[in-house]
Amino acid sequence: MNKGIVYLVGAGPGDPALITLRGAECLQMAEVVVYDYLANEQLLSHAPATAERIYAGKIGGRHNQGQEEINSLLVEKATEGKIVVRLKGGDPFVFGRGGEECEALYDAGISFEVIPGVTAAVGASAYSGIPLTHRDITASVAFVTGHEDKEKGESNIDWDRLSLGGGTVVFYMGVTTLRQNMQRIIEHGRAPETPVALVRWATTPCQQVLVGTLSDIADRAEECAFKPPAITIVGEVVSLRDKLQWLDKRTLCGRKIIVTRAADQAGEFSSKLAARGAMVLECPTISLVDPENWQLLDMAIRDLSGYDWIIFTSVNAIRYFFKRLDALGFDARAFGNCRICTVGSKTASEMHSFAIKPDLIPSNYTAEGVVEEFSRLDMHNSRVLFPRADKARDIIERELKKMGAYIDSPVTYRNIFPERLPPETLFALEKRSVDCITFTSSSTVKNLAAMLGEELLLDMLKGVVVASIGPITSKTCRDLGLKVDIEPDVYTTEALIQSIEAHFN
Ligand code: SAH
Repeated sequence: MNKGIVYLVGAGPGDPALITLRGAECLQMAEVVVYDYLANEQLLSHAPATAERIYAGKIGGRHNQGQEEINSLLVEKATEGKIVVRLKGGDPFVFGRGGEECEALYDAGISFEVIPGVTAAVGASAYSGIPLTHRDITASVAFVTGHEDKEKGESNIDWDRLSLGGGTVVFYMGVTTLRQNMQRIIEHGRAPETPVALVRWATTPCQQVLVGTLSDIADRAEECAFKPPAITIVGEVVSLRDKLQWLDKRTLCGRKIIVTRAADQAGEFSSKLAARGAMVLECPTISLVDPENWQLLDMAIRDLSGYDWIIFTSVNAIRYFFKRLDALGFDARAFGNCRICTVGSKTASEMHSFAIKPDLIPSNYTAEGVVEEFSRLDMHNSRVLFPRADKARDIIERELKKMGAYIDSPVTYRNIFPERLPPETLFALEKRSVDCITFTSSSTVKNLAAMLGEELLLDMLKGVVVASIGPITSKTCRDLGLKVDIEPDVYTTEALIQSIEAHFN
């Protein structure tokens, strides 16, 4: 049997975008992933769905015993011929016990490769605006454990050299031992007024920075109950942060925002919020599924060029429509001379992605806007196709009929709601730590109310800023008794984000 291989991959300090290309490549090949507490779980999405995922934190009780069990697990899986990724926080060889794991693999005759990662000190340095070296300030930096192995007895750290000379010192694992370490460095000769920064959960949306001096940082940390994981940066370079911090200047820095959306749509909106510093909690309230049967839609597709107009009011309608068009063996030529109306700029650009230019884009992105545009045209005896969601309002059908049009509105996809909220979202709501919740359609509001029950919804959203994409969604909120705090003038997610930024600044 072929022996497998183990890739020791540095996951980086937290921000999932900080993994290396090679690291992501290894994850894509993985058959088994053994991952750590400090490795961002989002990185697991690089691995195939079929890969076995093993959380190393669950293995073993005591520290050392746990490590031995991890070593044996790596050997065992690789001996079975598997491609194993050992995903470790930061860099595998910086306080990561990667050396020990490689030794065990070497002893067992198993091939391995080590892929470096951005270590916590380097990640924290960049994301807190504290350069670890600087031509005018210091030319050296030391990475030191703040938590020496007690079983080893005397210290391996040369406190004299560390303290004298003015080089930057970065402690890993030094939150609980902060007071002793700061004291020791002062005793060995560093000025008590030397600036110090603690950086917790560096590079993640939860990053926290606490600045003080060697003499007072421990008190400050105690006052705000500062917790691990954090690194401690000691040195004059810390004072550069006043000028060089950039993360904390982002407009939504540290705001916890719930994004209620269709599961397959949340990505882009959430990443835009996250790019502005928000801590995004995704809360899928809608899953999109196929219609119960395709009969009506199929009839319409087979006769597509016989319609004068086709109206798409959402990106999803276009996606599901084209998916079915394709399944029936047609392509975009099936539209013939049928004119196309799309509602909203996203919807128009989705149409462009199929190389089709919409003929009509109403300036008001609601069903009323569509009706108003069509009321300017002669719709008498025209045939209109409106592929819609199962729970859409019927205003377009009703009003176009009044104008003398024949309208077919086959259900093209259905909205169903998931049974429960993701645990982190529920937890944040219960802890009352949420700043804002966004609703981008009436169904997101209705489904959330259905998932939580109206009474609980109102209670849980007390004090939470409600941001709604437009008047219809806002009305649905108000009908349920929610107060809407934010509603942009243009009904797009981009405008919604801008209004949220304006609100919080
Ligand atoms: N191999 C890892 C370090 C593991 S030791 C690396 O290269 O980064 C664990 C310690 O790393 C934690 O106690 C903490 O001091 C530090 N650490 C890891 N991730 C961190 C993060 N995102 N923010 C701050 N400190 C972090």
